[in-house]
Amino acid sequence: MIEPIRRSTLEERKKWLAEAHYNVFQLKAEQVYIDLLTDSGTGAMSDRQWSELMLGDESYAGATSFYKFEAMAKKIFGMPYFIPTHQGRAAENVLFSYLVKEGNVIPGNAHFDTTKGHIESRKAKAIDVTTDEAKDTQKEVPFKGNVSLEKLEKVLVENKGNVPFMVLTVTNNTVGGQPVSMKNIKDTCALCHKYGVPVVMDSARFAENAYFIKTREEGYADKTIKEIALEMYKDADAMTMSAKKDGVVNMGGFIGTRNKEWYEGAKLFCIPFEGYVTYGGMNGRDLNALAQGLDENTEFDMLHTRIHQVQYLASLLDEYGIPYQRPAGGHAIFVDADKVLTDVPKEEFPAQTLTCELYLEAGIRACEIGYMLADRDPVTRENRFGGLDLLRMAIPRRVYTDNHMKVIAAALKNVYDRRKTITRGVAIEWEAPLMRHFTVQLKRLG
Ligand SMILES: *Cc1c(COP(=O)(O)O)cnc(C)c1O
Repeated sequence: MIEPIRRSTLEERKKWLAEAHYNVFQLKAEQVYIDLLTDSGTGAMSDRQWSELMLGDESYAGATSFYKFEAMAKKIFGMPYFIPTHQGRAAENVLFSYLVKEGNVIPGNAHFDTTKGHIESRKAKAIDVTTDEAKDTQKEVPFKGNVSLEKLEKVLVENKGNVPFMVLTVTNNTVGGQPVSMKNIKDTCALCHKYGVPVVMDSARFAENAYFIKTREEGYADKTIKEIALEMYKDADAMTMSAKKDGVVNMGGFIGTRNKEWYEGAKLFCIPFEGYVTYGGMNGRDLNALAQGLDENTEFDMLHTRIHQVQYLASLLDEYGIPYQRPAGGHAIFVDADKVLTDVPKEEFPAQTLTCELYLEAGIRACEIGYMLADRDPVTRENRFGGLDLLRMAIPRRVYTDNHMKVIAAALKNVYDRRKTITRGVAIEWEAPLMRHFTVQLKRLG
């Protein structure tokens, strides 16, 4: 499927951005020329996926579509139990409703925002145990999404008996779509299991992670993506999945587990929140398209084409000297806004400011993955300025051409060239108490 995209004038964009309170989530899609807000649910489905929609079985219980999905998920992840949900955060909601209690501590390699939200809203604590290498955007290491085993062990020792599970996110979205090595996955599972702590894999981009293992880790070059995926999940106890990413569907998610007790426990929350356990918030036709999407997106050629497009965009930024989280991630380029807008103070949200500037420049909508997203400490209510402040340009799957990448790079270069003229950022006028970045209202300073 293709759709026309619309050009706009600078005057129009200035007006629309002000109306959107300098928050690009509040823009209308038709006010956007190239949309890099997210790669979530924005991919183009294939001919075979569209065909599968026609075969959907909309029976309330026990639909053939569920069994088609379940068979594919079992084949790829090797787990016995699967529950569909309407998207990834719904999978988190269902599983965490069963597992997370007030006061619990849940370590993870940079929890995704909804994951952290589902932990903190239950008055539990999410502790980041990502390797320190991830914090240096200019350092080139192959597996920057890895868990620091030292940090993880410290959390496990200090919170004995109070850690219901650990979240291992592949790829590590928050630090820049950076992969986790097979060795690190295995070592992390072994360490957790030594302390009797199960591992839940947050799996949105598991296939991209498998691609990086194949192309970067010794001993995997000759294995298929499907063989690698199966090995990645061999030691994991459960998984949550946003199928909107590596399932290449517009909506969907699921939980998988090896643990029958967890399966039974999660079912009790699936039924009231999502629906009966063989559809869990999804249509039969969408389960069919998901089964097909999982199959296609665990083939090397599909992943190779996708990740090369992201790397092509990175090569253009290299030409222009624009700093981003290196090496390029699987689904996006994360521009290091702190290093671009060096005159905008932290308190004025440089990455959010850069997001506004890129939109004004060319109608390109990217996304802030920085101090705004990091939100406030749930106890002190202080802004969390300790992490990275990034502008994420996420590339939807099978949507844009390499020519679009050239336009994106040129627009960013124009902003980069005038960076010294940008000295003031934005200030918060209104924010929600949780996951504020979606709805925050800002004003432009200066
Ligand atoms: C997108 C995402 C989620 C949440 O999934 P939704 O489908 O958006 O609800 C959870 N974890 C990671 C790593 C993600 O990228």
